[in-house]
Amino acid sequence: MLAYTYVKRGKFELLDKPVPQLIDSQDAIVRVTLGSICTSDLHIKHGSVPRAVPGITVGHEMVGVVEQVGADVTSVRPGDRVTVNVETFCGECFFCRHGYVNNCTLPDGGWALGCRIDGGQAEYVRVPYANQGLNRIPDSVTDEQALFVGDVLATGYWAADISDITAADTVLIIGAGPTGICTLLCVMLKHPRRIIVCEKSPERIRFVREHYPNVLVVTPEECKSFVEANSNHGGADRVLEVAGTDETFRLAWECARPNAIVTIVALYDHPQQLPLPDMYGKNLVFKTGGVDGCRCDEILRLIAAGKIDTRPLITHRFPLNRIEEAYRIFENKLDGVIKIAVTAP
Ligand SMILES: [Zn+2]
Ligand SMILES: [Zn+2]
Repeated sequence: MLAYTYVKRGKFELLDKPVPQLIDSQDAIVRVTLGSICTSDLHIKHGSVPRAVPGITVGHEMVGVVEQVGADVTSVRPGDRVTVNVETFCGECFFCRHGYVNNCTLPDGGWALGCRIDGGQAEYVRVPYANQGLNRIPDSVTDEQALFVGDVLATGYWAADISDITAADTVLIIGAGPTGICTLLCVMLKHPRRIIVCEKSPERIRFVREHYPNVLVVTPEECKSFVEANSNHGGADRVLEVAGTDETFRLAWECARPNAIVTIVALYDHPQQLPLPDMYGKNLVFKTGGVDGCRCDEILRLIAAGKIDTRPLITHRFPLNRIEEAYRIFENKLDGVIKIAVTAP
């Protein structure tokens, strides 16, 4: 089968590999019907994910059809259409029982698929701990509607959830890339008083204005004064930082009002500074990534009920055998790309 592979730093290649087989009684084999490319895949390519293993098939955003299951898999059966979770988790350890599945103590707990074990930019993928890692897609929900459930949408849902948003809040979301928009969709479900999105790309600003006309949009240069003028207590009550640059990290705490919650969703490629003397007296609460992707069932219910729709994010479609071209467009942010759906070859 075709499998897009992390060969070495700076190099991914479409290789021919054997179809994966069941190894453990809790495994499932899924035929990938639709996948996507994530910024984290680019982080692997550029060597900023040290635990990524050369030789693995990349890709951790996918939906498909269950082909085979091990003897201990009870939640899905062959023929089921499923979303695949970016995280591998046992469901039983201390962290899993508290919903912190990103910190599951399994050797491959957390983000392993497409990083430390073979992922889904391929025709088939082996999903370990399939009782936790797969969720059945309701019949009324299409593959495209469900594509982002296991990763970017799970991240947006988690971020909105841990930010404890109330109806009185002004919420600032920094970054309107794919994860920023998924975060926006999930913040909208909490019906805060105001949502402000900070974004610098004119294309993405246009996208937000077109699809979410009730959301206020501002550029990073104007963000601080705009938030002050458009909030009730001198700053945002909740800030969700999804952009991941030095400038946006600084904006996140600068734009927060005293005693606000600042949720860091982004993955930075280097350390950030917390200038504590400058923020003394603000009494901020920081919450840091990464996602606990354990609410996929609930997210699928919300999609089926028409409350979340991520289809506008899919701006391009390519078959797996043309994935190189899809990467070129995604990596260089060409042609107004937000997300690419990768279909079976
Ligand atoms: Zn991802
Ligand atoms: Zn666990």
